[in-house]
Amino acid sequence: MQTITKILVANRGEIALRIIRACKELGITSVAMFSEVDAEGIWVRKADEAYPILGNALQAYLDYDRIISLAKKAGCDAIHPGYGFLSENAEFADACTRAGIIFIGPKAEHIMLFGDKTASKAAMKAIGVPVIEGTQTAITDKKEGARVAAEIGFPVIIKAAFGGGGRGMRIVRKEKEFDELFDSATNEAKKFFGKGDVFIEKYVENPRHIEVQIIADKYGNVVHLGERDCSIQRRHQKVIEIAPSPRLNDAVRKEIFRISTKAMFRLGYESVGTIEFLVDEADTVFFIEMNTRVQVEHPVTELISGIDIIQRMIEIAAGDKLRFLQEEIIFRGYAIEFRINAEDPQKQFFPSCGKITNYMAPGGPGVRLDTSLYAGYVIPPDYDSMIGKLIIWSLDWEGAVRKARRALDEFYIDGLPTNIPLHKAIVRDQDFIDGRFTTAYLDEKLDKFN
Ligand code: ADP
Repeated sequence: MQTITKILVANRGEIALRIIRACKELGITSVAMFSEVDAEGIWVRKADEAYPILGNALQAYLDYDRIISLAKKAGCDAIHPGYGFLSENAEFADACTRAGIIFIGPKAEHIMLFGDKTASKAAMKAIGVPVIEGTQTAITDKKEGARVAAEIGFPVIIKAAFGGGGRGMRIVRKEKEFDELFDSATNEAKKFFGKGDVFIEKYVENPRHIEVQIIADKYGNVVHLGERDCSIQRRHQKVIEIAPSPRLNDAVRKEIFRISTKAMFRLGYESVGTIEFLVDEADTVFFIEMNTRVQVEHPVTELISGIDIIQRMIEIAAGDKLRFLQEEIIFRGYAIEFRINAEDPQKQFFPSCGKITNYMAPGGPGVRLDTSLYAGYVIPPDYDSMIGKLIIWSLDWEGAVRKARRALDEFYIDGLPTNIPLHKAIVRDQDFIDGRFTTAYLDEKLDKFN
């Protein structure tokens, strides 16, 4: 049996701090790394050891040869990649294994499979998971794309085959718009993911985004940790995540749990992962993609299940058996996560950066804050605009909404604009309070909230 005694945290910001906290509770030594612009990051101070890593701001967290040699030099036996950066890079996972270092995550073959959205849809379909109608493979030819789109029937959505974060997506409502939108989707995909490949799918009107958290060990034990409702999105990017979904039909819930655990068992999946579905107005369920990493929104699941997802992920990587059976997992209450973004709602949510002059964190019962912010910290312009997550738990939905209002009102980040005012408006909106929202909700109401 392998053991893990020292982990290199190959990430930054709130998720680096989250992993360091998990290490401390497990009695594992944590090692942080930081780029030149990140020397003042709080995770650098909280880790047991910390080392600079060369390269420009982004490249530092992507240069896997350097990262693996740092892990070896520091005497680490494992690397936790967090989310983003190298977390879904199959070559990195393989390189870790070859270097004799445990990659804390799934097998490289599964990272590779689910990194390719068309291949993963085909694989899931083959094992009985319902998928959205669309092209079986990526498309580079516009004429071919237009033909397939007409066959599927408008509206369709063009998506980057190797994409993420809502980028490289275009909804096409009419045939005559197709060519232009195909070009812009392809260009965006090329710019962000280095590959212009796109695929086409039927566009589902007003769906809910419902995803299932899976955790599986190396011995074929697969359990789910319930669902999350991530329908509150701006331009296909999640803004608020909720567990459980306040209005999901119980039969639908049971069905997605069944198909998700069965599919992961059939694939021999291990570690944590999230299977994402769209649920349409008639409650029909479609698989869209799977994420083979710990997700930004994992805390809502932790709060309703009492299970520390990062700690269990580390144990599984070390070869431990899952500690619990499905029947032993008890879900309680409601959790809501608000992504705190450094962006200016008055300027089309353009990312903001600069010094935090004054900082007051919310607290009290049922409030969890995952962030690396502090007064005086200077937010560098080089990274994602998400600077923290406010997570609320309460026994019932109404209580969670009331608590969210209270906690958001306590939260002060001065010095730069954030989306806290937007969250404050959402938690006072009657449709949100009633749990009535689809993925169209926020884009439709944005003007009213601003
Ligand atoms: P990404 O990996 O970029 O996040 P996803 O495939 O997970 O992309 O989709 C992100 C969001 O885009 C979904 O939650 C949903 O709001 C929207 N979306 C994706 N595919 C469809 C579709 N076929 N119909 C309607 N909306 C879609």
